[in-house]
Amino acid sequence: MHKHHKAREPVRFGCGQCFGGDAQAAWENRQRLSEIATLVDESHFDLRLVACPDCGQRFLWVFTELIDWQEGDDSQAWCLLPLTEPECARLQAMKDPSAVEGVEGWCGDRPYLMEVHPSGKDTTVVRVEKGFRFLPHD
Ligand SMILES: [Zn+2]
Repeated sequence: MHKHHKAREPVRFGCGQCFGGDAQAAWENRQRLSEIATLVDESHFDLRLVACPDCGQRFLWVFTELIDWQEGDDSQAWCLLPLTEPECARLQAMKDPSAVEGVEGWCGDRPYLMEVHPSGKDTTVVRVEKGFRFLPHD
């Protein structure tokens, strides 16, 4: 903790490479993130802990998929949520994967990146300022 840290000042996450202002550029950089651990590895729900090779910023990588039984165009979403090192360690130590839902409570006030492909629509990359939620998945 910095001595003069103000409580209202938002915490900054990552560097210009992994979590800069340009959502698309940060998103493309995800290929360079190195995997720390796989928390859940299911075909419609995939959770990993990853880190930026440049600044060490930890992220929760989330993939959710909802099957479109009618049109066959499944809804998919990928999220990259920055984590502090203690949060990352806490997730890595969790025995029960469902406990990860607690992340919505700890991390609801911070920005995250999301690539969404809603069924029948184009894929877009957005930076969301707050309110991280796990999307419904099969
Ligand atoms: Zn970085």
